[in-house]
Amino acid sequence: MPAGDRLDTELVPVTAATAAELDRGEAHSAHNYSPLPVVITSGRGAWVRGVDGVDYLDVLAGYSALNFGHAHPELVEVAREQIGRLTLTSRAFQHDRFATFCADVARLCGKDAVLPMNTGAEAVETALKLARKWGYEVKGVPADRAEVVTFTGNFHGRTIGIVGFSTDPDARDGFGPFPPGFVSVEYGDLDRLADAITDRTVAVLVEPIQGEAGVRVPPDGYLAGVRRLCDDRDVLMLADEIQSGLGRTGYTFACDHEQVVPDVYILGKALGGGIVPVSAVAADRDVMDVLRPGQHGSTFGGNPLACALGSAVVRLLETGVYQRRSRDLGDFLHRELRQLPAGRVAQVRGRGLWAGVELAAGEPPARVICERLLARRVLAKDAHEGTIRIAPPLVIEEADLAWAVERLGDALTAADGGPF
Ligand code: PLP
Repeated sequence: MPAGDRLDTELVPVTAATAAELDRGEAHSAHNYSPLPVVITSGRGAWVRGVDGVDYLDVLAGYSALNFGHAHPELVEVAREQIGRLTLTSRAFQHDRFATFCADVARLCGKDAVLPMNTGAEAVETALKLARKWGYEVKGVPADRAEVVTFTGNFHGRTIGIVGFSTDPDARDGFGPFPPGFVSVEYGDLDRLADAITDRTVAVLVEPIQGEAGVRVPPDGYLAGVRRLCDDRDVLMLADEIQSGLGRTGYTFACDHEQVVPDVYILGKALGGGIVPVSAVAADRDVMDVLRPGQHGSTFGGNPLACALGSAVVRLLETGVYQRRSRDLGDFLHRELRQLPAGRVAQVRGRGLWAGVELAAGEPPARVICERLLARRVLAKDAHEGTIRIAPPLVIEEADLAWAVERLGDALTAADGGPF
């Protein structure tokens, strides 16, 4: 455990170097984030170093984009080699990494075909376009009448289309008008879902676990129930596994917990190995082939660097090591979290190396606890007001995980009135 020359119990103040860099960032950037007061210069595994020379344990892992940790040696090597050889061709020409990447991701998903994009939001938009076109061409929904069912508390990205069906006022307000064709249903309630599906419904867009909503795990049997309803009513099940997938919950996909296979997997984040943005949609031919040349695309989607890294990520996942680590360390994490000071925590949710610690009523906002954690050299992030999310890289050591939970216990019981 890198501790620098600090004692475990010593609190880290925000240094002048950190404050100056934060001020410069504020001066020259849009203010669409409010980052914790730390400025990171380097990272390895689960640890990062700040401009203050302090080592911090990263238990956010770039919202699961860093499942394999910072600077995973194999991924860095693949990136280095590929950067020196070929980085971009556009899809006007095929390159020598493309076929392998598509075959690798298709195999991982057990699907016929893959459509690569860059960010998660783009992959979600891609899946929605795919579903609408499938609805018109295969299901026979009248033109421009398709509906997609979405859920309360969802988070699928930040495009106009996506925030239009968000139920979070911060994400949505001030950005209308939004595209029609989306209906919203209570997450976790199969009866409501059954009622919402009509002849015009083409897809159900679901997060197997809702990350941004505070790591909300649906009731047992829910995903299997969604699958059944989609089968019965001729509707595509689109699983947004952008945050929950690729080992995070102890299996390759969070849908695996209920042996559910969606019609469309939506992947992102960790698919780029924490190095470049890589996202993808995977589906069988009967769905994917509704898209024909000129109907969808992206300049950078499926570029050589992205494909080389995506294939390397699939190779890592096919060892099963990361899923197993997530399962075993996840059990340990959840056991430890259940020992947190009584009265401070209302609920601990999650699966694998992914937990949402919901604070009890009357506790300070989760943001304040995250500031206290920062002072204790642990980087975590609140999910809305009252939940602290813990989602470390899957390469984290057990001792580091135990240390982080101990720091969290300390942060929860620290005197009120500020980060210290
Ligand atoms: N879907 C889910 C479930 C996510 O958690 C996120 C990002 O947090 C996205 C989609 C959007 O991904 P991106 O930020 O890469 O556009």
